[in-house]
Amino acid sequence: MRLIIEGRLADGDNDMVEHGEGVLAVVDRPDSCLAELGLTLAEGRSLLAKVQTELISKQVEWWLSGQTHCQSCGAALIHKDSRSTVLRTVYGKVTVNSPRLWSCACQGAAQTPRRVVHPLSKTLTRRVTSELEYLQARWAAHLVVSQ
Ligand SMILES: [Zn+2]
Repeated sequence: MRLIIEGRLADGDNDMVEHGEGVLAVVDRPDSCLAELGLTLAEGRSLLAKVQTELISKQVEWWLSGQTHCQSCGAALIHKDSRSTVLRTVYGKVTVNSPRLWSCACQGAAQTPRRVVHPLSKTLTRRVTSELEYLQARWAAHLVVSQ
């Protein structure tokens, strides 16, 4: 038996489903006995890490699509290059693409050179999910209390 787990992206209230990267995991159980019942801990962790990576990548991609224009005049910002940003989550580290854009000409004086804008780095300054921060604070408090 083989269980294939796929990721698909649905667009808001629309029923249109965009096919994502496809297969997230394949759970293979070649024998018909029940000796290997359910997911192992390693399989579960791997699956959740892949789901987390896919979800965060799509969320960041969607959010960035709304950041490509100047918020003052609406002009399209010119893409300079891209870097990668590592985000720490409860299911492990996720690396996302972080584009760098040239600031709009309307944002500076005529003599000053254009600045480089990092929309993702500016918004995700801590590069850690709020849930992981909360859990780390709880674990730290537990260590202090138990000493
Ligand atoms: Zn502008």
